[in-house]
Order: sequence, then C-alpha cells, then structure tokens
Amino acid sequence: MRKVVLTSVLLSILLTTLVSQPAPKFSIDLPLARYKVSSPFGFRAPFMGGYDNLTVHKGVDLIDPDTKKNVQVLAAIDGVVVVRALRDPLYGKCVLLKSWDPVLQMNVYTLYGHMSLLKVRLGQHVTQGQTIGIEGSTGVSTGPHVHFEVLFDPMEYISAIRMRYALDNWAGLH
Ligand SMILES: [Zn+2]
Repeated sequence: MRKVVLTSVLLSILLTTLVSQPAPKFSIDLPLARYKVSSPFGFRAPFMGGYDNLTVHKGVDLIDPDTKKNVQVLAAIDGVVVVRALRDPLYGKCVLLKSWDPVLQMNVYTLYGHMSLLKVRLGQHVTQGQTIGIEGSTGVSTGPHVHFEVLFDPMEYISAIRMRYALDNWAGLH
C-alpha cells in the first residue's frame, strides 16, 4: 500500500514537471516557419579570389521550400521596429528590430530584407513569431527570398562577455 502511494506521488511529481515545463524558447529563432538556405553567410568568390574589394554576405538568404506565394516573414525575437524602409538601395522593403537577448545579455538587431509587403510600423513592439511582412524580391535580389541578418555592437558584445567572465570567476571563488 505504501509503495503504491509513493509510486503515485512520484508519478504525479513527474507529470507535473513534464506538463508545467514550457516549450524551449530560443532567444533568436529563424524568420520562416519552413526554410531552406538559398545562400549562406560568408565571404563570396571575389574576396576569396584575392580581389581588393571585400565581398561578404552579411546574412543568410532563406526561402520556403514549398511555396513562393504569400510567405510570411516572422519576427525572430521579441523586439521593437527601429527601421522600416520602403526603398533601401540594397535591401528594398526591409525591417530592423532592436531586441534584448536574454541569453547573450545584450542588445541584438535582426534585419529582414527584400520583402514585398511590410506589416509593421515604426516603433511597434513585436513578439517572436509575429508576422512582420511578406517575402519578396525588392532591392538587389534575383528572386523571392528573405535576407536575414543578426547584428550587434562590438563594444557591447565585449562588455557582455567580460561581465560574464568576471561573474563566472567570482562564482568559482565561492
Ligand atoms: Zn542575402
């Protein structure tokens, strides 16, 4: 009898733990629900070939593998719209979000380029997964895709890393 009670108590604790556990939420997610990388981040041929100009693809190009119609571009992280451009020479219709990254403990900026339609206004607060626009091919682009970039201030990054290092060392002393 006691064994049964103990087992059921343990089982209920386990179930409560499992049920109350929130789904893992990544601080930065991808801006498409389904995606395929059409062009990766990195240095492109002219630079590797030794030309003088630095040709770097500062983000990643993503497409929906199933459809080209009405592909929704989602906020990768909770944030506020700090840039809402309609005719950027490079990124066409694009949005830049400023966000506080709880994992990195610093501000990060996410850029979404080449959209056909923007669904947010300047200064608007958005939540992760919210539709901010529709994928397109505006600006310098050869076909519908979203150019996704993550940016941060190097000085802030260095401060955040130093702070974490100091805290880790402090914790290690106790
Ligand atoms: Zn790109």
